Amino acid sequence: MKKLIILGSTGSIGTQVLDIIRANPDKYEVVALAAGKNADLLQKQAREFKVKAVALFDENTASDLKICLADTNIKVLSGSDGVCELTSFDCDIVLNAIVGIAGLRPTLAAIDAGHTIALANKETLVTGGEIVNRKLKDKGVTLLPVDSEHSAIFQSLQGAPAGSLKKILLTASGGPFFGKTRKELQNVTVKEALAHPNWSMGAKITIDSASLMNKGLEVIEAVHLFGVPASQIEVLVHRQSILHSAVELSDGAVIAQLGTPDMKLPIQYALTYPERDMCFESLDLFKVGALTFERPDYETFRLLPLCIEAINRGGLYPTAINGANEESVKLFLEGRIKFLQIAELNEKAMNMCENKKDFTVDDIFAADKAARQIVREAV
Ligand code: NDP
Repeated sequence: MKKLIILGSTGSIGTQVLDIIRANPDKYEVVALAAGKNADLLQKQAREFKVKAVALFDENTASDLKICLADTNIKVLSGSDGVCELTSFDCDIVLNAIVGIAGLRPTLAAIDAGHTIALANKETLVTGGEIVNRKLKDKGVTLLPVDSEHSAIFQSLQGAPAGSLKKILLTASGGPFFGKTRKELQNVTVKEALAHPNWSMGAKITIDSASLMNKGLEVIEAVHLFGVPASQIEVLVHRQSILHSAVELSDGAVIAQLGTPDMKLPIQYALTYPERDMCFESLDLFKVGALTFERPDYETFRLLPLCIEAINRGGLYPTAINGANEESVKLFLEGRIKFLQIAELNEKAMNMCENKKDFTVDDIFAADKAARQIVREAV
């Protein structure tokens, strides 16, 4: 039995993790769960999986949850500290599926506790990549990627000799607006931006996929996970979302992982690594027919090159563009800004970032706050 702590259990990834556990009740025990504010679902999950503890980021709903769970022995924690404290419970893996920079501190707390991390929360590495990598090394902790592209790269590298990675081929679906011009994007609606052709995901990452910000964040994530500069990462638009990413090795061999567009495989691989487990859906290549690859449109989808610029500049620039993006996506979802303004606001906040070479976790949160403020004041 593997003991798991799941952070972000009420979200798109979190609920899929619990589906895998439901299908394998003899293999996993859920020790603790955390969410932002969805007390109803968290309560249901806590009772179903008979967990020892839960944490809600939102203090008010956490108080209500405490009352609702009064008939159980389940400990209820609250706030950012409560979510971090949850990682001190005994377990084998902490799966972090929180959305946004809110996932950074819990990842660091889980590493401090010495737990293996299965990481879906890409913002952890985008903002705190250097600090996380130093801590992983100091504590001898393993971090396994859950993001489908990074899992594909990780899987493709199994058995590759150290130092043989020449290039990462990072695939992108292109999202709902592939092929559109800036003019055509001027008045797109929230509903249109949320209509992803291949993947069903949380709202924030779906908007990021439409703007290609998600691919920019993934380039930064790959830099930290695989120790290569952005210049060795090539982004390819692959509309079918079947080839989840590939690596080119020193002798020119290209090794890829293919599968149906379903997050269950990369989630499960992070839980069972290095073992393989049950198959959810076989890939029928006859049905797929053709796999196509195209260059991204860097002019129209400016957030991709801007993220590459942010990681090349280094320091707090990735945090600034990430923080600005979290804020501008929120404003777009609320109908307060237009789609193209997301990139404009993110660029402005990134360029106004007061960078620091050696920075702490507090500096990251200060840069995140400053970037969000720049976005809010510009609207
Ligand atoms: P969702 O929005 O669906 O879920 C987010 C989860 O985080 C919810 O459980 C939410 O709780 C919780 N949460 C939000 N804020 C906090 C907080 N401050 N403290 C604790 N928990 C919080 O997002 P996704 O599942 O789509 O994505 C999660 C992460 O995984 C993101 O980083 C995303 O980029 C990454 N990812 C997602 C993929 C996908 O297919 N969805 C694919 C690859 C990566 P509540 O419900 O209460 O708000």
